[in-house]
Amino acid sequence: MSFSNLRRAETTSKLANETFDIVIVGGGITGAGIALDAATRGLKVALLEMNDFASGTSSRSTKLVHGGLRYLKQFEIKEVAQLGRERAVVYENGPHVTTPERMLLPFHKGGTFGRVMTNVALTMYDNLAQVKRSERKVMISKDAVVDKVPFIKEKGLKGGGVYVEYRTDDARLTLEVMKKAAEKGATILNYAQVTGFEYDKKKKVNGVRFLDKAIHKEVIVRTDVVVNASGPWVDKLRHLDYAKGKKHLQLSKGVHIVFDQEKFPLKQAVYFDTHDKRMVFAIPRDGKTYVGTTDDFYDGNAEDMHVLQSEVDYLLKAIADMFPHLTLHEADVESSWAGVRPLIFEEGKDPSEISRKDEIWEAESNIITIAGGKLTGYRKMAETIVDLLYKKYVPKKRFDHATCQTKQLPISGGDVGGSKGFATFKETWMQKLQALSFTKDEATNLIATFGSNIDTAISYIDYNDTNLPNALYAKLMYSIHHEMVLHPIDFMYRRTGDLLFNIAEVKRHKADIIDVMAKIFVWSNDLKALYTKEVDEAIKNAESFRVS
Ligand code: FAD
Repeated sequence: MSFSNLRRAETTSKLANETFDIVIVGGGITGAGIALDAATRGLKVALLEMNDFASGTSSRSTKLVHGGLRYLKQFEIKEVAQLGRERAVVYENGPHVTTPERMLLPFHKGGTFGRVMTNVALTMYDNLAQVKRSERKVMISKDAVVDKVPFIKEKGLKGGGVYVEYRTDDARLTLEVMKKAAEKGATILNYAQVTGFEYDKKKKVNGVRFLDKAIHKEVIVRTDVVVNASGPWVDKLRHLDYAKGKKHLQLSKGVHIVFDQEKFPLKQAVYFDTHDKRMVFAIPRDGKTYVGTTDDFYDGNAEDMHVLQSEVDYLLKAIADMFPHLTLHEADVESSWAGVRPLIFEEGKDPSEISRKDEIWEAESNIITIAGGKLTGYRKMAETIVDLLYKKYVPKKRFDHATCQTKQLPISGGDVGGSKGFATFKETWMQKLQALSFTKDEATNLIATFGSNIDTAISYIDYNDTNLPNALYAKLMYSIHHEMVLHPIDFMYRRTGDLLFNIAEVKRHKADIIDVMAKIFVWSNDLKALYTKEVDEAIKNAESFRVS
């Protein structure tokens, strides 16, 4: 079945009429990873997402596949080792969507890490994460730091360490994992909100009720096992179950802001100290520089998040302290995003002290919850969950494989011969795309967006009779026919990332994009007006900040 909302009726009918080995609630990276692991072991899998895929935390992160260097300060050695090693696996399986990024850690007199500590921490990081020789840390002098970032604070600067992390597009990573799960047979639906559970006489779950938000109809999916992977909403889901459990989440909000490179001409990613002894990232990407994150407890509505003026002020101060030669103001912020970390509550701890470890909670109803964790560790979290299903919840005969199959499995778009093969793949496609009159920037972006799906994506340009540039048209058509977009904002935010990193392009082409989608999906005028309003609100939300 093709992964498209043009076939939505078929997908819902399958969900309503068949019985599944597991139903996963939540279409972020955690749910996507579990769907892929379970489907590749032979299980019959359904996944339901209440909004768009990755619309929760999985499109609102710092967009790094990283081991979490700073967790070394909290002695979370095992966690850092596992996440650090996992980076290489995520990279190998999808090198188009994950890119090595050399990170500079400058050290100043009185800062978090001095020369010795930086050296020790980075060496430990390399060893724990089993970093390959070519990517191991290098210590550099003060002059070399200034050479890399000419506008960095020189007062008290002692030198720096350079180590490798991986930059990703979190929403596209989630999408690529989700598409692979669908390719392996999982039945997956977005805009499908779980509203309750059905039970048998022994009070074990035997069905999941969901609201099909596209047609406002309730549907029941049959299953004996539910995995609750709803991120910041896991507690809400657990409250729909009679066996609620004691542990709970503590949400922590994080904000990022985006500048044009003309305003913040950063060529080198930097991980730097803040005035209140935290650390934030400044990362160059696609002609922009983004900075984040904050870390504050949050008890508001996770579905209606806004960046606050005070959060922008905090990040502007951190930037001004570390890069005093730049003069950046609130008006220079082009776009922004806010997300919440689903952390496990720990009495008396500050947000940045709470562990990022994942935890699994099993309810007697056979609803299993997975919470916490990192984008980076999604595959290992999925392995742990499906191992548990094998041991305790799903009959063994339902499995084709007892053990995890995803370690060497390219995600969708990742069939490029691993990280080594990707260089050749990229070179070949750069030539082909430029021969088709795409600019160098467009070609680079198309390759990073689609990887090995690129030939399918660009095949659409032959039919472009719209005002949209071919590159944008190809992305739009591909997302409609192969990536389950339903609302225009799904495309602008999570299929392309343009709302965050190319907001001018969104404003320029939004009317044409909406027109194309309206025609293909046959929207009424009211629906078209509703979706247009949704886009306008999202633009406003990205560009402006609230007082409280
Ligand atoms: P989510 O992505 O939130 O997915 C849960 C999904 O469940 C949502 O899409 C939601 O709509 C859906 N849902 C909820 N209720 C229902 C329902 N009733 N029915 C159906 N669906 C439902 N990790 C890293 O590895 N690297 C980083 O650089 C990084 N930076 C971060 C920075 C910030 C500011 C934050 C907040 C997090 C960061 N993280 C990072 C952590 C990472 O983003 C999260 O661990 C990860 O995205 C969580 O994914 P998830 O699938 O568990 O949750």
